Amino acid sequence: MLTNGSNSGAGAPRGEDTPVIEIRDLHKSYGDLEVLKGVSMTAPRGHVTSLIGSSGSGKSTLLRCANLLEDSQSGEILFEGEPIRWQGTGLHRRPADRRQVRRIRTNLSMVFQQFNLWAHLTVLENVMEAPVTVLGRPRAEVEARARHYLDKVGIGDKWDAYPAQMSGGQQQRAAIARALCMEPRALLFDEPTSALDPELEQEVIRVIRALAAEGRTMIIVTHDMRMAADISDHVLFLHQGLIEEEGPPSRLFGAPKSDRLKQFLSATV
Ligand code: ADP
Ligand code: MG
Repeated sequence: MLTNGSNSGAGAPRGEDTPVIEIRDLHKSYGDLEVLKGVSMTAPRGHVTSLIGSSGSGKSTLLRCANLLEDSQSGEILFEGEPIRWQGTGLHRRPADRRQVRRIRTNLSMVFQQFNLWAHLTVLENVMEAPVTVLGRPRAEVEARARHYLDKVGIGDKWDAYPAQMSGGQQQRAAIARALCMEPRALLFDEPTSALDPELEQEVIRVIRALAAEGRTMIIVTHDMRMAADISDHVLFLHQGLIEEEGPPSRLFGAPKSDRLKQFLSATV
């Protein structure tokens, strides 16, 4: 069994009840287009939080704002109870502290739809890259950890392969091992199975399920309602930049209240 590791000490005092991520009334625009119109959510420690909603509803943007890959114009983001410090306002708002940004980004590892592995590096080198270059960890220690996580996602024998030599499902599992090797406080998945054929989807879903069963903190954007229903503690339905409805999966999928959610679910299943 693996523990939820951490890659660098978090600053603020925190208890078990402090969510890993808390977002309050977040607004985000691209130019004149307001994409997030006041979104609030929390990712409690040890919980799986899923984000569902139509294409263009702002799911990816919300994930990217949460780990500061995107700026936002107003609202608060807290990492383990510690608020992001901003400078400027509105379209000029930026995080004020680069070290804080770096710490938060490295603690919220992202897994993307398109895997985003380095084509010129082997799988093992891909997994080792960030812990060595970003966190400055000793190679030997990182290699042991990388091999451990590659075994865990079931591709330990592929350590020497290049991404192009592997199936999409294997590449995505390598990307998950890479995220795990950072020993982050939370994993953020953006449609991790959308680029995969149905039979390869399952091998990735199995890995995600196992991580959920271990009690890892995760936020998962997914179009896979079955996976969301099975593994989530809490599901948020995003519609046009607002949380239209949220709740435990049994309630949200079993007895949706809003017409938009009902419509969305009947169109997806
Ligand atoms: P989802 O992930 O739910 O499909 P996104 O967060 O990707 O939605 O996109 C939400 C809206 O923001 C869409 O209208 C999309 O076109 C727009 N958008 C996303 N990224 C950008 C960008 N970099 N520049 C301009 N508009 C963007
Ligand atoms: Mg998206």
